[in-house]
Amino acid sequence: MATLLIVEDNDLNRDMLSRRLARRGHSIVLACDGPEGLTKAYTTAPDLILMDMSLPVMDGWEVTRRLKRDPVTAGIPIIALTAHAMAEDKSTALLAGCDEFETKPIDFERLIDTVTRLLERRASGHHAGGNLA
Ligand code: MN
Repeated sequence: MATLLIVEDNDLNRDMLSRRLARRGHSIVLACDGPEGLTKAYTTAPDLILMDMSLPVMDGWEVTRRLKRDPVTAGIPIIALTAHAMAEDKSTALLAGCDEFETKPIDFERLIDTVTRLLERRASGHHAGGNLA
């Protein structure tokens, strides 16, 4: 079982992801905006973060940049969630340090595969500090 932090401002998406990931046996921590996501990344030390990119107060790109810049949090894998399917968004998310990228509407089975793969990579000791690391 892993602790997953879901940073998502949309109530329906947050509830859906939370319920479905909890059903797979994961422990879930929730945040509704950028600053709360940043704080909970430190206070709960999650094994993985699902990060909506479009968030109030501080967007997901900025939260990701800050987490990847700090050696304390840089190793936490981050999956970017974005409503935009544009190639530009994908490269921006990866440049910010996101480890993977999923487009909304979320294909849950695909997301689960990505979560599992990143958790296994982290457990096996590989550095998961983002594509620029
Ligand atoms: Mn959003």
